[in-house]
Amino acid sequence: MCEKPQKERARVLVMPKYTLQYVCGHSDEEDHPKARIDKIREKAAESLCPSCWTDQQNQIANEVSWLLPPLEGTEKQVTWAQRLRAKAMIKILNAKAAYGHDETMSLVLNDFHQDAIKQSLAMWWINNRNTRLMDLVSDYHSTRQSYYQFVIENRFQREVDALVKEAQESNRDPFDISAEQGLLGAIMVKNDAYYVASFLEPEHFIEDLHQRIFEVVRALITLGKVAMPITLNTFLGDQDLGGITVSRYLARLAAEAVGITQVRQPALTIYALAKYRSQMEAQES
Ligand SMILES: [Zn+2]
Repeated sequence: MCEKPQKERARVLVMPKYTLQYVCGHSDEEDHPKARIDKIREKAAESLCPSCWTDQQNQIANEVSWLLPPLEGTEKQVTWAQRLRAKAMIKILNAKAAYGHDETMSLVLNDFHQDAIKQSLAMWWINNRNTRLMDLVSDYHSTRQSYYQFVIENRFQREVDALVKEAQESNRDPFDISAEQGLLGAIMVKNDAYYVASFLEPEHFIEDLHQRIFEVVRALITLGKVAMPITLNTFLGDQDLGGITVSRYLARLAAEAVGITQVRQPALTIYALAKYRSQMEAQES
């Protein structure tokens, strides 16, 4: 029982000093556990020494910062915060690229980016240095949730109305099977695509099988499970659809899927045509 702490203390006491050779040509004497010294030496040989690394980080920060407003604080705070801000800006740009397909997230990230640029207190950057960027973004979103909801619904409504009007004027079919297929395939290939189309309900699809597929896909994804043709098969049953089985059909949908960035248009089309159909029904009755 009492052996373990003693052992640990002994190891700390005998931790030897090693000379590390860095890629910049500098060397440094440091304490390291013997067991890991080979790995540490290997890493040092490919890295800048601590002081060259700091210089390099400051230089990157200066390059990013010349476009940004000057920071307020003591000289030490400003130097540190400039580095933190530069790193955060790069993360924001990466997040904007990664969430480009998600309309709400793109709006939020854009606004967050603009506000971050205006954030000129060095201490703000220092205080938030250990907070994950996406946590800051999600806080930012939740304090303005009703605003974003309003913006998205308004955008969406105008486009849907335009699509309904177009359907009325063009005398087109009041359904679009290939939009339904493309969307369902995209969701099966990349489950993230579901969130772009999460405003849809199963009854918005014209095909019975598509309604069932969407229902199962939605249930699986909102439960945090993966929705792939194989998993869907067990829920849908592999009956013959007349020349093609359900499993073959699902595989075909996945193979012919549109990319995640192209999901929004078929989703809006499906929604608009469902609206158009219910308008036509109302007129007939
Ligand atoms: Zn160096």
